[in-house]
Amino acid sequence: MRALWKYKNGILAFKEIEDPQLLSENDVKIKVMYSTIGIQDLRVYRTWDFYAKNGLAGYEMSGIIVDLGSAAKKDGFYIGQHVSGTVAKFCGKCAYCEKEEENNCLEITSNAGTICDYIVWDKNQLVPIPDDMPFSIGCLLEPVAVVYHAFRKAAIKKGENICIFGGDFNGLVLLQLAKQAGAKTVTLVEPKEVNQKLARQLGADFVVDPREDTYKTELMKLSDFIGFQSVVLTSSHPEWLSVSTDLVARGGTIMLMVYYDLTIDFSINSIKFFLMNIKITSSFLYTKKELVETLAILHSLDLHPLIHLEFPMKDSLTAFDVEQKFHYPRIGLTIND
Ligand SMILES: [Zn+2]
Repeated sequence: MRALWKYKNGILAFKEIEDPQLLSENDVKIKVMYSTIGIQDLRVYRTWDFYAKNGLAGYEMSGIIVDLGSAAKKDGFYIGQHVSGTVAKFCGKCAYCEKEEENNCLEITSNAGTICDYIVWDKNQLVPIPDDMPFSIGCLLEPVAVVYHAFRKAAIKKGENICIFGGDFNGLVLLQLAKQAGAKTVTLVEPKEVNQKLARQLGADFVVDPREDTYKTELMKLSDFIGFQSVVLTSSHPEWLSVSTDLVARGGTIMLMVYYDLTIDFSINSIKFFLMNIKITSSFLYTKKELVETLAILHSLDLHPLIHLEFPMKDSLTAFDVEQKFHYPRIGLTIND
């Protein structure tokens, strides 16, 4: 079958490989219909990054079941069923998995990628999607689940002022969830014009360009000089880390949805931290329950505009080049027709 392969030196190339086979009764073979790429897929170029390991490219997919083991059948999966899911494999046995905090799993592993004709995943990685849901939207189940988890953890409430750094996929989905939760204002900090435009279209109350010299003052003004109840970092500009501590309100939350280069440390004045009752937290992945719950909220979100362009699989290398250059929230890849 056709596969897009990541080599250790950061080079991507097509490779002809064997079709994956069912190896356990839990396994499900899927014909991949759609995959999406975004900034995280470019980490193939950062050699220290765990996203950069050798192997099949891609993390997100939707597709159709073509074969399955007996245990998967028993769980209700069937040939012809449309599915999406997560590349992450939670061990299911550790203390965290036992209390349904799979995002903290001590032995989390991940499958090979998704930009290929067929994949074999464990039934526990899959979520059935409705037949009438476009594959492009079903494919976004996993990345939306990442944001859904962060949204729940930040506990954004009615009447709050929220500031989101980064108007990429995560920022633009979080913006919509915050508005749905009744946030009084959502301010998005984003330099790219295409994303600024999307933010306005998707309901941002204010869009601030961090290339302006006065952007920090502008942000303070927008929070009525008391700070934002939640400041969420969804983009990997390290300078925004220190800015965020000046912008959070008393009792507020700073949340990191992203990590930075190995050399970046994060420090905050201890008196400020103590007196302000600030919560600094991070958000990584999602629980299995949240992954399933995300399916129910997909229809309430405007996700189509986040897939900026679509390419057939044969043009994947062009798609990566375009993503490298423009950093669109997502680029869609149609894998099979
Ligand atoms: Zn586990």
